[in-house]
Amino acid sequence: MKNAYPILVVEDDPVTRRLLEKILQEAGCSEIRVAVNGRDALEILKHSFYPIVITDWIMPEMDGLQLCHAIRHDDLPGYIYIIVLTVKDSKSDIVRGLEAGADEYLVKPINPSELLVRLKTAQRILELEKSLKMTNEEIRTLSIQDPLTGIFNRVYLMERLPQEIKRSHRYGHPLSIIMCDIDHFKDINDEFGHKAGDQILKEFVHCLNAAIRQDIDWVARYGGEEFLIVLPETDLQPACLVGERLRRVVSEKVFRLKGKDIRITSSFGVSSFNPAKDQRTTFDVLMEQADEFLYEAKREGRNRVKGQNVKDKLFELKGESYEEEITSRR
Ligand code: GH3
Ligand code: MG
Ligand code: MG
Ligand code: MG
Repeated sequence: MKNAYPILVVEDDPVTRRLLEKILQEAGCSEIRVAVNGRDALEILKHSFYPIVITDWIMPEMDGLQLCHAIRHDDLPGYIYIIVLTVKDSKSDIVRGLEAGADEYLVKPINPSELLVRLKTAQRILELEKSLKMTNEEIRTLSIQDPLTGIFNRVYLMERLPQEIKRSHRYGHPLSIIMCDIDHFKDINDEFGHKAGDQILKEFVHCLNAAIRQDIDWVARYGGEEFLIVLPETDLQPACLVGERLRRVVSEKVFRLKGKDIRITSSFGVSSFNPAKDQRTTFDVLMEQADEFLYEAKREGRNRVKGQNVKDKLFELKGESYEEEITSRR
């Protein structure tokens, strides 16, 4: 097994340092960097990540055990496998070395084959760490993703929206949310079946995603055919324009189901807050208000956008003349 991980060698004695480099180079190690003491090593680790550190114990400035401590207490991008090399070989020294956070302990003079065997162990542990990380990332993705549409689910929404609200308060920037619901969706299921309904949901989400600012705004599935769009740094008026754009895009799209062209509409409730005017807005207030306006949009005939700034006057958008409406209300 060829070592593919970059290695940082920390050794104050130039002769041992060169010897270590030679052993590692001959073993085919791809990237080797040297440091002359613990402090030097920590400085290097601040800028570049080395998953394997082979360090001497006794060194000036910062010794090997202090380096182990520092590495274990630093917030580094991954696990570092540490091998400590030293002339100290009593049982109590070995225990001290391991307690400081070392993974392995080798007594000098260095035996090349022993060092290479330890490197193989290091690689095995690092491989395990990598696959564990990947599994954790997969689990995380699955736990926050809606399996049907691939967008964020309610769990993620409940976790992330409060963070966005906090951020808005901290930086004094506005935030808007749009709650939307497909109109008469039950009829689609009744007429074309659940599978066709699922297909519409997927295409509906695609429409929403394509019409919002990429990498800034985001959509989550709140429930069955209800979605929430989060628009950071956005005031009520531009948020209502986005709602209107979404309403229009959805209403103009032709969906094809079982050889039939069909159209759907959707209703939108927008709620916004501006920390400059209102310091108290919470997740619940924002959500309740969006829900209220969505309900109002439904009650007034569906296929429309209704919205209000927390503490502001009613703001309403209907039909095609939304831009004039906004201008006249300024
Ligand atoms: P309204 O205009 O008032 O919103 O009417 P609606 O028919 O859309 O609302 P209602 O709440 O009565 O029905 C929502 C329907 O959405 C009922 C439910 O079966 C359907 N639905 C929810 N989740 C899914 C899903 O994942 N797939 C499919 N195919 N249908 C779903
Ligand atoms: Mg030394
Ligand atoms: Mg509905
Ligand atoms: Mg609904």
